[in-house]
Amino acid sequence: MQMQLLISKEAIKRRVRELASQIASDHSGRELVLVGILKGAVFFFSDLARELGVPARIDFVRAASYGSLSTSSGTVTLIKDIELSVENRSVVLVEDIVDTGLTLACIVEELKKKNPLSLKVCVLVDKLERRKVEIPVDYCGFRIESGFVVGYGLDYDEQYRNLSEIYALQGDFPT
Ligand code: 5GP
Repeated sequence: MQMQLLISKEAIKRRVRELASQIASDHSGRELVLVGILKGAVFFFSDLARELGVPARIDFVRAASYGSLSTSSGTVTLIKDIELSVENRSVVLVEDIVDTGLTLACIVEELKKKNPLSLKVCVLVDKLERRKVEIPVDYCGFRIESGFVVGYGLDYDEQYRNLSEIYALQGDFPT
């Protein structure tokens, strides 16, 4: 198994800053709640939150998807819900990567039931090839066609999350 550098930490930093400024200006004057999806979004989430430059509450959800090592099965359940109220507040949901779209679709459904004023989706990586359900991605860090990426929160079998850059996994690896 080999890894090839795909997105440098400088490129990530630049893009996070741009996304944060876009999110801040789109939500000016609103009560903002950033909701991170554990665990993959942790580093993206914490960098984004600190670049915002406007007040925001933070909360987290965690979804379990019973799939293989590198893909979700489509059976997604929320195993940790948010603790703050989002009623009449604007939510930005922050995810590491959208692939089939099933994980985000499930979490968006759950959050909508809580009557937020608005709900936007921000993803670090939008992977287009295997999309099964349409997900409106309002803020997108990087687009890739296919492949399997790790680093900056993204894992393969719980490894590589704490790398500062994003790498493409190459070669034969169990999926
Ligand atoms: P979806 O439900 O959109 O198919 O998949 C979302 C989840 O699958 C992500 O939160 C992530 O855990 C995992 N996933 C999908 N593609 C990749 C990838 O390229 N790299 C990593 N590390 N995880 C991925």
